[in-house]
Amino acid sequence: MTRAVREAKKYAGFREAFGMTIDHFPLMKENIARLENVARRTTAGAFKLYRDFLALEGGLKAGLVADEPDDVRKRRFEVRELIMLQKITAAWDSTEVLHEAMSVFGGHGVMEDFSSLPRLYRDSAVNELWEGPRNVLLTQIFRDIKKVTGWYAPSELVRNILKGLNVEAADKLALEITDIMALPDSDIGMWRRWDIFCADFFHACQNLALHEVERTAKEARRE
Ligand SMILES: Cc1cc2nc3c(=O)[nH]c(=O)nc-3n(C[C@H](O)[C@H](O)[C@H](O)COP(=O)(O)OP(=O)(O)OC[C@H]3O[C@@H](n4cnc5c(N)ncnc54)[C@H](O)[C@@H]3O)c2cc1C
Repeated sequence: MTRAVREAKKYAGFREAFGMTIDHFPLMKENIARLENVARRTTAGAFKLYRDFLALEGGLKAGLVADEPDDVRKRRFEVRELIMLQKITAAWDSTEVLHEAMSVFGGHGVMEDFSSLPRLYRDSAVNELWEGPRNVLLTQIFRDIKKVTGWYAPSELVRNILKGLNVEAADKLALEITDIMALPDSDIGMWRRWDIFCADFFHACQNLALHEVERTAKEARRE
């Protein structure tokens, strides 16, 4: 994702159409800024989660461990779910970003002998599948959260993970997960809502991580 955005940005500053470089067109500016933001928030989210993983005493531990203090058990559970959420969200976004980045190159974007983007696009589709295809991980996350409801309410899980994000956005997601969890597994519409919820929720986690990085960088510049 990061590479695709970097290359698309450079190309847009080089390619001329209608008498100017294409990065002067407002639509192109919007496309590139949005893709850049997705790549940045994905990177920030990945590093934040890896930090949280490293901070877990004894690592993830297999299954859902019961004999630990409540706060440790909850933290371990959060990291377990966030790893799966990150996998499906980053893999999905990567394919979309690559697809859009290829379009910045116009016809050149789909030519394998011109740029590496078609190869990265194909690789990205593999990332969506291996180590757990989307449906399988969505189902696993759903089952896990349902299973622990007795000691970790879904709304509390969402609010804890999103601590630092604006309260309104966190409340909306907490409400949505509570509603979804009350629906039966046989409800097909529920699964669509679950899929959308997981993407929105993890994007919120990534935005929060990016916000934290930017705030820290700003403070460092001030010192
Ligand atoms: C390039 C490449 C390299 C690989 N390397 C390795 C490797 O080194 N080691 C290894 O062990 N594996 C490897 N794999 C296998 C990879 O992990 C599997 O392809 C992947 O887990 C999907 O399993 P599957 O192909 O059997 O698909 P299936 O399980 O048949 O899935 C097909 C579709 O059904 C959906 N589906 C499956 N179960 C459910 C469910 N319960 N609910 C809803 N939908 C469901 C899936 O989401 C998917 O959309 C590799 C795959 C590729 C493409």
